[in-house]
Amino acid sequence: MLRTDYGNLVRRVLPDAKITDFWSRIQHVEQMPRRLADAAAMELLELTGELIRRRSVTPDDAGCQELIAALLAESRFSTEALRFGDVRNLWARRGDAAPVVVFAGHTDVVPSGPPGEWLSDPFTATVADGRLVARGAADMKASVAAMTKACQRFAATHPEHPGSIAVLLTSDEEGPAVDGTARVMELLDRRGELFDYCVVGEPSSSERLGDTVRIGRRGSLSGLMTIKGELSHVAYPLRSENPIHALARFVKAMTAEPVDAGNAHFPPTTFQVVNVSCDAGAPNVVGADLNCRFNLRYNTEWTRDTLARHIESMLDALGVNYELQWRVAGEPFLTAAGRLTDAVVRAVREETGVDAELSTGGGTSDGRYIAPYGIEVVEIGPVNATIHKVNEEVLVADIAALERIYFRIAELLLLE
Ligand SMILES: [Zn+2]
Repeated sequence: MLRTDYGNLVRRVLPDAKITDFWSRIQHVEQMPRRLADAAAMELLELTGELIRRRSVTPDDAGCQELIAALLAESRFSTEALRFGDVRNLWARRGDAAPVVVFAGHTDVVPSGPPGEWLSDPFTATVADGRLVARGAADMKASVAAMTKACQRFAATHPEHPGSIAVLLTSDEEGPAVDGTARVMELLDRRGELFDYCVVGEPSSSERLGDTVRIGRRGSLSGLMTIKGELSHVAYPLRSENPIHALARFVKAMTAEPVDAGNAHFPPTTFQVVNVSCDAGAPNVVGADLNCRFNLRYNTEWTRDTLARHIESMLDALGVNYELQWRVAGEPFLTAAGRLTDAVVRAVREETGVDAELSTGGGTSDGRYIAPYGIEVVEIGPVNATIHKVNEEVLVADIAALERIYFRIAELLLLE
C-alpha cells in the first residue's frame, strides 16, 4: 500500500501551509477560476487538519463541533449544541421550510493504536504522495469538513434557497451510540422537526471515490449464550452433556447451509461465533457452563424477533440446554430508489465520472437511527480500505471532490 519513498515525502499540513504548490498539482476544479479554487481547496484541507488535530477519541468531541458550529453560524445556520451524558451532538439548520436536506456524521474517532506504528503522529494531518494520513482521515473527518464547506458554499451561492439545509453531528458513533444520533432523532421527532433526506458521510467507497453508495445496511443481532453442563471428570461417563460438544452441534447446524438466500437488495444473513469460554482450569475436568457470543448480520427477510425465534427453535430441536440473551445493535434498513438516490448517483457521476453502485454491504452506521423515521438515507464518503487501521488515509483530491458531490446533492434536491 505504501511506497518506499513515503518517508521522504512526508510533510505536515499544519500549522504551516506550504502545500499550496503540492495542492496545485493535484487540484482539478474546472468550474472556478484557478486561484479561487486553490484558496477554497486549501481552506477545506486546513479544516480537515484542524479537526484531526483535535484528539476526539470516542466519545470525546475535543472541540470539533464548536469549530463546525462557528463556521455554520457565519453562514446563518442556527446551531444547537445538544449534550446527553458525555456525548456532544450538534444540530445546525438553515431555513424553516421543507424539504429539509441533512448531512450527518460523527466527530469521534477510534483510538489510534500504538503511535509508534504510524509513519507520522496519528493526530497531525500529514500529506504525502497525494494522501492525507491521520486517525479519522477517512472515518470521517474529511467528510465532516467537506459537508461543512459544502453547506457554507451552498448558503453563499444560493442565499435565498428554498427548503432547508442542515448538519447533524455526534461524538458517539464509534462507541455505544446510545446518547448520540439516536437521542437527537428522538428530540427532533418530539419537536416535529424531522427531515426528508439524509446524506451520511461514512466512508462508503471501495476503490474509487463514489464507486459505492450505501442505501441500506444489514441488521446486527448478537446472542450471549450460556450452555449448561456439569463439572465432570473427563475419564468417567458424564451425567450431563459436555457443553462444548453441544456448541459444536449448534455451530455445525448454523453453518451447514446459508441462514437464508438473501433478497434483491441484501446478501444472505451471516452467522459468526465471536467468543467462547469453557475452562475448568485443569486438563482432566470438563467445565460446567460454556459462555459464548455469536453475531448475526441479517437482511430484511427477518426482524430481530423472527430471527431470534428461529435460532431458539433450532437450539431446542438440537436438544441444547441453554440460556440466551439477545442484543440488537440495529435493525436492517433500506432506502428505495427515489429522489435522493437519483441525486446522489447524478452528483457522483457529474463530479467524478464514476457510476456508483448502490449497495447494502458493510457494518452498521448511524443511518440505522435515522431510517426508521421514514427518512431517505444514503451514505457517501471516502474509500474505506484503511479505516480503523494504522496509517488511515484519504486521497487529498477526494476531499475536494467530496465537497463538490455534497454541494451538488444539495442543489439537485433543493433547487431542481
Ligand atoms: Zn464512521
